[in-house]
Amino acid sequence: MEILEQMGSEGHEQLVMVSDVGSKLKAIIAIHDTTLGPACGGTRIWPYKSEQEAIWDALRLSRAMTYKSAAADLPLGGGKGVIIADSHTQKTEALVRAYGRFVDTLGGRYLTTTDVGSNGRDMEYIKQETDYVVGLPVTVGGSGDTSIMTGLGIYMGMKACAKEVWGSDSLQGKTVAVQGFGKVATHMAHHLMKEDATLVVTDVFDGALDRARDMGLKVVGPDEIYGVDCDIFAPCALGGVISPETIPHLKCKVVAGGANNQLLSDGDGETLHRMGIVYGPDYILNCGGIINVESEIYGGYNADRARDKTERVYEIMEKVISISQGQGIPTAKAADYLAEERLKSVRGIRPVYRKD
Ligand code: NAD
Repeated sequence: MEILEQMGSEGHEQLVMVSDVGSKLKAIIAIHDTTLGPACGGTRIWPYKSEQEAIWDALRLSRAMTYKSAAADLPLGGGKGVIIADSHTQKTEALVRAYGRFVDTLGGRYLTTTDVGSNGRDMEYIKQETDYVVGLPVTVGGSGDTSIMTGLGIYMGMKACAKEVWGSDSLQGKTVAVQGFGKVATHMAHHLMKEDATLVVTDVFDGALDRARDMGLKVVGPDEIYGVDCDIFAPCALGGVISPETIPHLKCKVVAGGANNQLLSDGDGETLHRMGIVYGPDYILNCGGIINVESEIYGGYNADRARDKTERVYEIMEKVISISQGQGIPTAKAADYLAEERLKSVRGIRPVYRKD
């Protein structure tokens, strides 16, 4: 499909390609939708094999940000930046600052933050060139590590799923199989452990497994995690892990985790629905990070406000379940419906966002 044709069919507003010879910057910024507010989303620094691949990724990820912020009731649109570079070997101060200058030219239509390959230090560099950056370290007055709120949001969403399945949102005595024990999963685990849930964990990184063992958690191999006898399966590593290949192994009643794009395809959401497994859609549960960042934009960072908003993931998940039941559709589809209805209703009262 041609790029403009794809943008039209998916509702993208703008695609910006930027280049700076001196710093070797090659980047793309995609703004999907600014109905609800300025487009906000991280900057991914990744060695894409082709410009085409980088463009598709920016378009796909910016659209996902629109849905995430819309469903989380935030005053933000969806955007994403991608820099074509290896973050380990090609990321320099000049490259990141040059990128910041281009973000500035968008006049606030796009607010950037961290993503794969970029960190708080990079945001500090960007801040030297533009005010349209969030997710700065706490030490410079920013909102800091997003994974704290992300872990809390997943836990709250998990509780709402549990209430649907077992009639109570208590996770005491429930067994949760956790795939990937990185930053988000660790914060989620602290909440689960406080409630006396049992955790079974896997990872491909020995350091993560040592940390899990130190916390007294049971560890299994990466391939064993799907078949663990558990109540809840929590994907917290990679996308595409819920697939025709893995679903037959699942013994859980709930799938609820933090990884983005957990379903390999829409059909896998339908299969879970038919099997009576409640799926907590990824972007509904993992919105704590963008909530944390949003709290930095409006009125300065306030951890209590971010926490309050993140706890509302519970109610949002209840709404998703109610739509799913009312319409007889999988929860992933119900989440899209919830986001699209908000966009539709606000579009009716306000034109495209302009930074006045
Ligand atoms: P992280 O890098 O800290 O943790 C990911 C962990 O998964 C690592 O320990 C890694 O070794 C492990 N892993 C990778 N491949 C694996 C495999 N095949 N099997 C088992 N483990 C594997 O990342 P994170 O910040 O904790 O994010 C986890 C997921 O949540 C990612 O999909 C991310 O996109 C998503 N997410 C994160 C945030 C956030 O605030 N950090 C927000 C929204 C979504």
